[in-house]
Amino acid sequence: MQPASRPSSSGTERPSEPKPIIFAVDDDLGVLGAVARDLRREYGEHYRIMRASSAADALAALEKLRLANHAVALFLVDQRMPDMSGLEFLAQARELYPDAKRVLLTAYADSQASIQAINETRLDYYLMKPWDPPEERLYPYVSELLDDWRADHRPAYTGLTLLGLPYSASTHDLKDFLARNLVPYRWLDVETAPEAQELLRLSGKGAADLPVLLLTDGSVLANPTITQIAERIGLQTTAGMQLYDLVIVGAGPAGLAAAVYAASEGLSTILVESHAPGGQAGQSSRIENYLGFPAGLSGADLSRRATTQARRFGAEILTPSVAVGLRREDPYRFVQLADGTEIGGKAVLVATGVSYRRLETPGAERLAGVGVYYGAALTEAVTVKGGHAFVIGGGNSAGQAAMYLSRHAEHVTLLVRGSGLAATMSQYLVAQIEQTPNIEVRVRTVATEVHGEVRLEAITLCDVDTNEVQTVTAAAVFVFIGAAPYTSWLTDTVIADQQGYLFTGTDLGKVGALPDSWNLEREPYWLETSVPGVFAAGDVRHRSVKRIASAVGEGAMALQFVHQHLASL
Ligand SMILES: Cc1cc2nc3c(=O)[nH]c(=O)nc-3n(C[C@H](O)[C@H](O)[C@H](O)COP(=O)(O)OP(=O)(O)OC[C@H]3O[C@@H](n4cnc5c(N)ncnc54)[C@H](O)[C@@H]3O)c2cc1C
Repeated sequence: MQPASRPSSSGTERPSEPKPIIFAVDDDLGVLGAVARDLRREYGEHYRIMRASSAADALAALEKLRLANHAVALFLVDQRMPDMSGLEFLAQARELYPDAKRVLLTAYADSQASIQAINETRLDYYLMKPWDPPEERLYPYVSELLDDWRADHRPAYTGLTLLGLPYSASTHDLKDFLARNLVPYRWLDVETAPEAQELLRLSGKGAADLPVLLLTDGSVLANPTITQIAERIGLQTTAGMQLYDLVIVGAGPAGLAAAVYAASEGLSTILVESHAPGGQAGQSSRIENYLGFPAGLSGADLSRRATTQARRFGAEILTPSVAVGLRREDPYRFVQLADGTEIGGKAVLVATGVSYRRLETPGAERLAGVGVYYGAALTEAVTVKGGHAFVIGGGNSAGQAAMYLSRHAEHVTLLVRGSGLAATMSQYLVAQIEQTPNIEVRVRTVATEVHGEVRLEAITLCDVDTNEVQTVTAAAVFVFIGAAPYTSWLTDTVIADQQGYLFTGTDLGKVGALPDSWNLEREPYWLETSVPGVFAAGDVRHRSVKRIASAVGEGAMALQFVHQHLASL
C-alpha cells in the first residue's frame, strides 16, 4: 500500500490525486512478475501497478484501497488460482470496484469458460498466456479498456473521510477541529449515506467506534482524540527545540502577527495553540472591516494566509497543544504544556484571547455539540438546512453568524436581551440583517431552557418585559453571549483584573499592581505584564479593543518590546 502522503508546506495532509491502479493477481510468481513488469513499462507513467500472489491478499488490499477511496482502473487476473478462481475473485472485486475493467488471464484449456464468463459475469476481456510480444497481444487490448475506463471515470475524492452521526458531540468536535485547522475532509453521515455504511463495514468498525476517520493510506482511526488526528495528518505537536527566543501562546490574529514579525526578524519562534490557528477570527464567516480587503474575507482565509506566512518565515506552530502553566527561572520563562512537557523562552507572549461564555440555561450543557454550539456556525450550518436556527447575542459575531446561517436555515431568529441592535452591532451588519427576509430579530427576549433527549429539539423563549414564555422547535442554537479571557492557567503568576484580563504596561502602575517579583529598575514596557519578559497582546489584555486589526497591531508592536527585553539579557 502507498504510504501516507507527506505533509504539505502548510503542515497538513492534503488530498493528492494518486494514479489510478492496474491490479494484477496470479499465484505463479514468475508470471506475476512478468506481467507486472510489462504493465509498468507501458502504463507506469499514468497508472500505479499493484500485484498480489493470492486472491485473498488482493481482496484485503482492495478493501484498504476502497477505504482510502483510491481508484482501480483494471484487474488482470489469472483464472487458475488455488484459493479462488479468477472469475470468483473478479465477482468479489466487482462489489468493491464496480467500474473497474476486468480481464482474465487464461491458459488455452480455460478459454471456453472465459468466453462464457464474458456473457455471464460481464468480464471485459480474456487474454491467452503467453502474451508475448506484449505490443501485439497485451497492450492493444488493455489500452482500449483503459481508454474506456478513463472516458467514464469521475475522479473520486481522495482526502480524509470522517464517518459519524449528525447529532454527536464527538463528531462535531472532530469536524470543528479539522475545519478550523483547514484540513480538507468529507463527512459522511452513517445514518443516511449508504457509502458511509459500506465504508464502516469495510473498516471493520461498528456504531460503537464512531466517529471513525479514514486516512488516505487506508488506515482507520476509531473515536480518535484530536491529538491522535493531529499526529497522523502531519500537524506539529512537539517542539523542535528546548529554548526559543520567543514562545507565543495562542495563534489568533495577535499571536500569528507576532510570529510573523518575530520569525521574519530572525528570532527563533514557536507558537503554542490549543485548538487551531486563527482563533476567534478563524471562526468568522465574513470579515468586512479588516483593512485592505474591500470585499471582505473569510476568517478561514485570513487564518490560512497568516499561518502560511508565519511558517514561511520559520515559526513553528504546535497544534493542538495547551499551555497550562508559566514558570520563571531567570533569565528564562517556561511555558508548561498539558502533555507534561515545557518549552523554554527568553521571552513569552500571551495571546490567548477570549472564549464565549457558556449558556447557563437548563439543558444547555448536556446539548452542547448536539444542537447547542459556541461560535462554530461554519461547520454546523449544513445541519440546520431547512430548519429553524436560533442565534443568541447582539454583537457583531452573532450578526455575522445569523447572516451566514440564513443561507442554510429556512428561518433564523436572533435573540437579543436588549431593546435593539444599534448599540452593540456595526451598522453595516444591522442593515444586512434588516434586508434578509428569513432573519427575524426578537428583542427583549432570552432563552430559558433548551430541550431534547439525544439532540436539541426545542427552545423555550421568555419575553423579559411580560415574562411570557413560548417553546418552539429548534434545529440548532448558536451562542454568542460575551466572552471571558483564557488566563486561568497563569493568574497565579501574572496579575489580572477581576475578569481575568491581563494588566500590561502603564495599567500596572495605575492599579499599584507592580508586585515584588518585578525586580527591575525600569517600568514595564507598554505590552509587558507584571512578570518581566512576559508580554500580552490582543483580546486577552485588560481593556483591549476586541478587533482583529487591533490584535494584529498589538502582536506586531509587542516585538519592539521583546527586542528591548532580549537586548537586556
Ligand atoms: C464569529 C466572530 C466574528 C468576528 N468578526 C470580527 C470582524 O469582522 N472584525 C473584527 O475586527 N473582529 C471580529 N471578531 C473579533 C476578533 O476575532 C477578535 O478580536 C480577535 O480574534 C482577537 O484576536 P486574539 O489573537 O487576541 O485572540 P483570539 O482570536 O481569541 O485567539 C486566541 C487563541 O489562543 C488559543 N488559546 C487560548 N488559550 C490557550 C492555551 N492555554 N494554550 C494554547 N492556546 C490557547 C485559542 O485557541 C485561540 O486560537 C470576531 C469574533 C468572532 C468570534
